[in-house]
Amino acid sequence: GNENHELHIIFFPFLANGHIIPCVDLARVFSSRGLKVTIVTTHLNVPLISRTIGKAKINIKTIKFPSPEETGLPEGCENSESALAPDKFIKFMKSTLLLREPLEHVLEQEQPDCLVADMFFPWATDSAAKFNIPRIVFHGLGFFPLCVSACTRQYKPQDKVSSYTEPFVVPNLPGEITLTKMQLPQVPQHDKVFTKLLEESNESELKSYGVIANSFYELEPVYADHYRNELGRKAWHLGPVSLCNRDKEEKACRGREASIDEHECLKWLQSKEPNSVIYVCFGSMTVFSDAQLKEIAMGLEASEIPFIWVVKKKAKSDDEKLEWLPEGFEERIEGSGKGLIIRGWAPQVMILDHESVGGFVTHCGWNSTLEGVSAGLPMVTWPMYGEQFYNAKFLSDIIKIGVGVGVQTWIGMGGGEPVKKDVIEKAVRRIMVGDEAEEMRNRAKEFGKMARRALEVGGSSYNDFNNLIEDLKSHKH
Ligand code: UDP
Repeated sequence: GNENHELHIIFFPFLANGHIIPCVDLARVFSSRGLKVTIVTTHLNVPLISRTIGKAKINIKTIKFPSPEETGLPEGCENSESALAPDKFIKFMKSTLLLREPLEHVLEQEQPDCLVADMFFPWATDSAAKFNIPRIVFHGLGFFPLCVSACTRQYKPQDKVSSYTEPFVVPNLPGEITLTKMQLPQVPQHDKVFTKLLEESNESELKSYGVIANSFYELEPVYADHYRNELGRKAWHLGPVSLCNRDKEEKACRGREASIDEHECLKWLQSKEPNSVIYVCFGSMTVFSDAQLKEIAMGLEASEIPFIWVVKKKAKSDDEKLEWLPEGFEERIEGSGKGLIIRGWAPQVMILDHESVGGFVTHCGWNSTLEGVSAGLPMVTWPMYGEQFYNAKFLSDIIKIGVGVGVQTWIGMGGGEPVKKDVIEKAVRRIMVGDEAEEMRNRAKEFGKMARRALEVGGSSYNDFNNLIEDLKSHKH
């Protein structure tokens, strides 16, 4: 309602696609409910944000990314996507510490009522305190990964095993979740500054006003309750944020510009049977080895399921064939209409929501996980890094709409044997055809419906948004 206009919220997303996209979606929720919203970012991230804002009424305020002299990074490296090598990534993380002063300058100018900042800005809690406003943390995660993270940090079960592959149970967590040390988020090159940053982000979360989860209550009631009641954290669930702002008039693409004509893509999908296509995409950061890409190509072809495959690895020039593909692969799949390869950025949510799509091969980033759930799809889980192993467990063991390819370690970031063609073929067929597939799809569709209901007037996410506004108002007065 109109009375919300008196509140001004500043959003400060981490400079990575998988963080910016849900944060802008979230900002759009606030704007659609009548609040004044400003997003703070660096110059080179503006196009990514503007595209995701669409027609929503949101201000963007830019701050300067530190110079190459200060960071040791090449010019133009303002998004983690351009800092994928481990040494660059660490420099990139350190550079973001220098954004504190410019952000505080904006807070001073704008005098907002609340700062919603990414977990990777641990200093933001103190920044907000300087101006007497609450800082809310946004990880872009749901309650299950938040609970697993909190419990592994608090009880350190990983310190009690003798190897990286020995399983342990996560203590004080419902559902008997087993993990190995290999599956915990790891710090590249065991860098001390980065390790400290993660520790500080945990402390800053505990000191913060609370956490916004990208989830809905019905998806993970046990873990939503656990996070609040057992772990004692203040949290609001406002998701799935990807569903909040669908406007048929707007272009479907979030983040980067799509590398395929959207009508072209829809036409291809339109020519397929309902639930017959599998969509294969590993988020915005994963780059596979040539050997792994080849196994994926062969596995998809052998499965005989029509597919859309998003490949981040680029050919040297657009005309050049992708030399790692099996002999004659592109001609065969294009000729038969069996597959569509998108090189670069796909309009993911548009594709997932299309009725012809019946399954999703995913790296289990939380955004992709929740977008798959919202679209009512069973998933092949192929976690790579970060909290993705937790999300994969959630899909396969908790809500039971996922089938794994058996990845036990961080193969996505180099090292490890590629997952073989046969394993991929089997997993794809298991979620696409047969009784088990149908059972999983029915369950997934139920979750998809619940997700939509959660956002409607009176739904769980809608109501929790009201709770958050009430909290912010009473904090202000
Ligand atoms: N995404 C997209 N097109 C792509 C790849 C990714 O639109 O080709 C979007 C996807 O819909 C999701 C986000 O980018 O919202 C990726 O976030 P996620 O947490 O799944 O993975 P990350 O990129 O952080 O590893």
